[in-house]
Amino acid sequence: MGHADRPTIIAGNWKMYKTIGETVAYIHQFIPLVKDVAPLVYLAVPFTAIRAASDAAKGTNIVIGAQDVNEHAEGAFTGEISCGMLKEAGAQFVIVGHSERRQIYHESDAMVNKKLRAVYASGLQPILCVGETLQMREAGVTEFVLQTQVTHSLDGFSSGQVARTIIAYEPVWAIGTNKHATPEIAEKAHRFIREVISETWDAETAARVVIQYGGSVKPENAPKLLLEPDIDGLLVGGASLSAVTFSQIIKG
Ligand code: PEP
Repeated sequence: MGHADRPTIIAGNWKMYKTIGETVAYIHQFIPLVKDVAPLVYLAVPFTAIRAASDAAKGTNIVIGAQDVNEHAEGAFTGEISCGMLKEAGAQFVIVGHSERRQIYHESDAMVNKKLRAVYASGLQPILCVGETLQMREAGVTEFVLQTQVTHSLDGFSSGQVARTIIAYEPVWAIGTNKHATPEIAEKAHRFIREVISETWDAETAARVVIQYGGSVKPENAPKLLLEPDIDGLLVGGASLSAVTFSQIIKG
């Protein structure tokens, strides 16, 4: 099983941008731009815009999701949102363990693991983000960090659950910096992550898991990244905020 046997999934992560009104205007502009594209198109929007986005995207090839979730079904967790709430609002997937969550809100692999448990139970599809900081890369511990993040975040899950997970390799030094990883650097990390999955679960699971690259993806650098055999898709932050630019990335 190679690149061609896995779906290409290109996801946008809007972070804390766009009101409900801006979301609806974006989706209306975006629908005709991507209606005939080959890759699967995902959009992770703010919680408040999920319902409006999923209504506006109904009957189209645009899949709406969220950017984070709480691990509990309900309870006294002020400000938090559960998987059930996301699903009811129309989300079909959720990003877990984004580096901004890990760095700014100190989310650990153990916390990510709990969130993933809730996500699998709910039927939502997770995008699990992993990636090293510049300091870690310069210290030569990139592979150790990726192995730890992948195995600890996915600890205790079945082959079926792992195969259904999208893993996003997002080197922290490349996020929002305009310094994307070269295709060679990204491919090396993706191949390593697939090896870790193969060793920890099995070769078939490793062959099935979709691994996205994220970090300063733009229309200019996306095609070369997607040519690599283990890069199955992209997770796009800043460049997904414009419907036109994001559609150019998706069309290649
Ligand atoms: C991201 O938010 O996941 C991301 C990769 O951001 P950017 O594309 O802006 O680097």
